[in-house]
Amino acid sequence: MHELSYAQALLDEVLKLAEENEAKRVTKIRLRIGELLLINPEQLKFCFKAISSGTIAENAEIEIEFIKPEIVCTECGRRFDEVRGLCDCGGIVAVSGGKEFLLMSVEMEVE
Ligand SMILES: [Zn+2]
Repeated sequence: MHELSYAQALLDEVLKLAEENEAKRVTKIRLRIGELLLINPEQLKFCFKAISSGTIAENAEIEIEFIKPEIVCTECGRRFDEVRGLCDCGGIVAVSGGKEFLLMSVEMEVE
């Protein structure tokens, strides 16, 4: 499953940060994810919960904000909401962004 690899990478990173900060518990994780990665947020949370069980991140709340890709015609500059081939003007439509997977912040309890 696609989401499982992301959940695993995320857990590794979060636990590393928690260890560096000598945290007792991770409470909240904020992510920004590019829409083009086609990650299902519920699946990602489910996978994270499963693999983080028994770690200090096990009850962390995950907040996800999706990032839209920029889809712009290279000729006329028209913007589109969805990935497509050519623009109506015949120009090539370029896609940038939308494949990010960013860990924005991790809230933790430190004692
Ligand atoms: Zn165009």
